[in-house]
Amino acid sequence: MTDHIPENSRRRFIKLTAIGLAAAPFANVLLSGSAEAADPISETDPQATALGYKADATKAEKRKDATQLCSNCNFYSAKAGDASGPCVLFQGKLVTANGWCTAWAKKAA
Ligand code: SF4
Repeated sequence: MTDHIPENSRRRFIKLTAIGLAAAPFANVLLSGSAEAADPISETDPQATALGYKADATKAEKRKDATQLCSNCNFYSAKAGDASGPCVLFQGKLVTANGWCTAWAKKAA
């Protein structure tokens, strides 16, 4: 049954699942807004590099949909209009509202 899943998709799924599981215990703190001020995530951070994070989404080569931004990602939790905010995947760091990475997921309604 899994013979039809391309190897790259399988690896990406496993990687994102592992990152999500590692981040899950911290999600409540980040989403509650009680996290203390944090530094911006560096694009050269190993996890940021692995996920192709760019602080300026227009510079993300893997981004195919110009409407996708951190600000409308399900993992982003800043207030509307904030220039940056927490992302569940980057614990203790801030991502820019106009950023993007390959883990982007449509914000739940
Ligand atoms: S696109 Fe989503 S998952 Fe990726 S850095 Fe931005 S808020 Fe986080």
